[in-house]
Formats: sequence, C-alpha cells, structure tokens
Amino acid sequence: MRLGSQADLRRRFRTGRPCLDLVHTGGAGAMARWEIVHDADDLGRLLGVILGLPPLPATVADLAAMRPLRAAFTRIAYDLAEGSLPPISIDPPRPADIATVNAAAAAPSLVPALRPDGGAMLVAPTTTAAFSTLARDAVDLFGGPLASRIRVCAAENCGLLLVDTSGPGRRRWCSMELCGNRAKIRAHRSRI
Ligand SMILES: [Zn+2]
Repeated sequence: MRLGSQADLRRRFRTGRPCLDLVHTGGAGAMARWEIVHDADDLGRLLGVILGLPPLPATVADLAAMRPLRAAFTRIAYDLAEGSLPPISIDPPRPADIATVNAAAAAPSLVPALRPDGGAMLVAPTTTAAFSTLARDAVDLFGGPLASRIRVCAAENCGLLLVDTSGPGRRRWCSMELCGNRAKIRAHRSRI
C-alpha cells in the first residue's frame, strides 16, 4: 500500500486510542517513513482528526512540544507490544519517557461536555489541552490492564499498533479490512 494513500491514512487512526493514533503520525528513525506532521498546520489538522475535533490552532512551538511526547508514546507502546508476546518480560518504561508523559498529563486537558442537542463534545480545544488529553489516554492505556494487549500488526510491512480488546486476546491485524484480508488471501493462495 502506498504510504499517504487515503486507505493508508485511515487505518492509522483506527486504534481506538488517541495516544497510539499520534504514534502513527510519524517520528524519528524507523518511524520517519510514517511522517505526516511536517508543519504546525499539519499538527493542528491531525490533532483534530485524532480527537474528533475541527482543526486546532497550532504553532511552531506546539510542533516542537509534540515531538518528544510522541517519541515517548512510541517507545513505551512498542516496548509493551514486544513484551506482550511470550515470554512475558515487560521492562518498565524509561524514566525520561515517564516524566515526559506525566508532565503533559498534568496540564489542564480538553474538557468534555454534554451537547444541548444530545451527545458529547470537547470544549476548550487548545493544542496544549489536546496534548494533555493524549497523555492522560497514554497513562490510562500504558498503566492499565490493556497494556499487555498492545500489539504490533502481524501483517508484513505494516508495523502499526493495535489494542486487542477481544475476549480471547488473539487479534493479530490492525485492520481486518486491510491487513487481515490480505493475509487471508495469501493463506488461501498458498493452499491452492
Ligand atoms: Zn496492519
């Protein structure tokens, strides 16, 4: 699949966890091939996509603040995903990454509110508040029972993360429609 195609973009934002969706926007080293946050406008737009909000106003300083937070999420999530496979040996996250996540989570987060016409929304959508909301999601995910259910998609050349919330805990693909189907077709062909 071509990186940057619509299908590729959509599957990055299907983890159900905003903190992991941010990981899927790129980073340094092996994550650089995923990079789609090139400037402040990209950041504001993608935060909106991840949090279900209109594009947020973002500055170059916000862009600089996002990178270490995203890198901390990335290291912790992939370490947990690796440790979730037997033999289970989850190393505690690095102290510097913990400090980065906790500092972001300590800021005021986006505020949830009921809509007058029913449903819920997030108010006070500043970028700093959005980072706090993402960091609190990370605290909940990485520090809670689902930490051992974080996986890397089993499809070749995918590499995206998923959270396996299924009862049996045997989910393997980031997206059944994309990676799961391709794997099924390959398995079918190899039996013919
Ligand atoms: Zn996948």
